[in-house]
Amino acid sequence: MNSVMIRGRMKAARIATLHQRWRKSRVKKQGGRCARCRRSFTDRLPPTLDHIVPLRDGGADHFENTQALCWPCHCAKDNPRGEQP
Ligand SMILES: [Zn+2]
Repeated sequence: MNSVMIRGRMKAARIATLHQRWRKSRVKKQGGRCARCRRSFTDRLPPTLDHIVPLRDGGADHFENTQALCWPCHCAKDNPRGEQP
C-alpha cells in the first residue's frame, strides 16, 4: 500500500468520526426523533446522518447541512421512486 492510499484512508476515518459526532448532536437537538417521520430512534430504528442538500447536488459537508433521519426515511429520500442506483 502506498502513502497516498494510507493518507486517503486516514482522511476517510476522520470524516467518519466527524459525521458520528454530528449525528449524535443532531439526534440530541431533535429530541431523539427522526427529522422526517418524527419516530423515536431505537436500536431497531437507528439514526443516520443525512445531508439536507445531498453532496452530489453540491450540498456542503457541513454541520448546518445535516439532519438525523431514521434509515427508512434516509433510503426513501435518496431513492424517492424506488429506483435502482
Ligand atoms: Zn424517519
